[in-house]
Amino acid sequence: MAKTALITGASQGIGAAIAKKLASDGFNIAVNCYSEREVKNGGNQVAEACRSLGVEAECFIGDVSSFDSCAGMTKAVKEHFGTIDVLVNNAGITKDGLLARMSEAQFDMVASVNFKGVFNMTRHVSGVMIRQRSGHIINITSVAGLYGNPGQFNYSATKAGVVGMTLTAAKELGPRNITVNAVAPGFIETPMTDVLTDEQKAAALSSVPLGRFGKPEDIAAAVAFLASDAAGYISGQVIVVDGAMSM
Ligand code: NAP
Repeated sequence: MAKTALITGASQGIGAAIAKKLASDGFNIAVNCYSEREVKNGGNQVAEACRSLGVEAECFIGDVSSFDSCAGMTKAVKEHFGTIDVLVNNAGITKDGLLARMSEAQFDMVASVNFKGVFNMTRHVSGVMIRQRSGHIINITSVAGLYGNPGQFNYSATKAGVVGMTLTAAKELGPRNITVNAVAPGFIETPMTDVLTDEQKAAALSSVPLGRFGKPEDIAAAVAFLASDAAGYISGQVIVVDGAMSM
């Protein structure tokens, strides 16, 4: 039976690139979309691109910030494909602002998606993987969670929390033959970073020794390695993919 990968927030950006890369590696793909709007505005095209690579692919609507929604989505994916072998916790948002002016809502929104969302999905999907006695969980964190970033108090806190969840889950789930790792992107060209001003982009670029921003495919390559048999003895690690920006 073909293996299945479930990628959260996969209608665009890094998640879409991960879905297509894992499809090219032979995984059936569950494309999580936040709502029907994302299914129409990207999810369907991502699923179609995966199918054109010869695998099965379907969109599954689910809000990662909702425990019950994640339970329903996990059940639906398992029923549809029969197995969940790879979970990529990719969905994430930013609500940037300096700490002195950050509202409680700004903090809570980012925490509910980036931080609690990883708990919600990992809690449900790990149950499936424990019964299978195998699986790979890959969390998309950020260099902001490792080194901090002014204007991203909420975001960097959640991404640091994702690292903590990665390490603990690797220890708890390792005895069940489940690996848990994280990938920490630097500055990647996606809709998330498109909103930055030219001045902000120029400042970011000047700190990248490789002299270019990352592409979603750069992150997808690292995720695909961690999802492969070749990475079977790697767990509890954070792989930084940032063109040496944060060194
Ligand atoms: P993106 O283009 O904005 O994609 C994020 C995806 O997550 C969107 O499809 C979004 O759907 C979805 N999402 C948001 N809230 C959700 C929810 N509650 N439930 C399910 N899906 C939800 O961003 P990206 O740049 O590809 O980022 C992907 C991941 O990489 C994020 O975790 C981000 O923090 C991380 N990252 C990105 C960069 C970068 O430079 N781009 C750097 C470091 C880390 P909507 O379209 O509905 O919002």
